Amino acid sequence: MAYDYDTQNIFAKILRGEIPNDTVLETEHSLAFRDIAPQAPVHVLVIPKGAYVNYDDFAQNASDAEIIDLTRAVGEVCRMTGVQPGEGGDGWRLVANAGEAAIQEVPHMHVHVLGGRNLGRMLP
Ligand code: 5GP
Repeated sequence: MAYDYDTQNIFAKILRGEIPNDTVLETEHSLAFRDIAPQAPVHVLVIPKGAYVNYDDFAQNASDAEIIDLTRAVGEVCRMTGVQPGEGGDGWRLVANAGEAAIQEVPHMHVHVLGGRNLGRMLP
């Protein structure tokens, strides 16, 4: 793995309760909270409680229970925030940044859930 987990990263502090957050959902293995600088009306970050630096670290090293928990938490967040298509919402987008090229700011695995506006095409 290219990066060591930094226990002083902001999301680790949120998980330890050292920094407040606007929680949308908490499950056994995951926490979902609103992004501090939202890029859309719905902008929620879903993170595992375990110490994983990015998506691949999580996918390779998390337990099946953690992976299932986070995967289902993402779907639940989409429903809870009203963006789930077919359930009154217009749709959503998931983003997971890793490393310098993607300008990953926080080295704790997280998935951005974006919705509540027309998100446009991501790729040309
Ligand atoms: P990244 O660029 O690492 O994929 O995204 C990190 C995200 O975390 C950014 O969208 C940023 O606004 C958000 N963020 C950074 N610090 C905090 C914080 O203290 N609280 C919350 N809720 N979000 C944060």
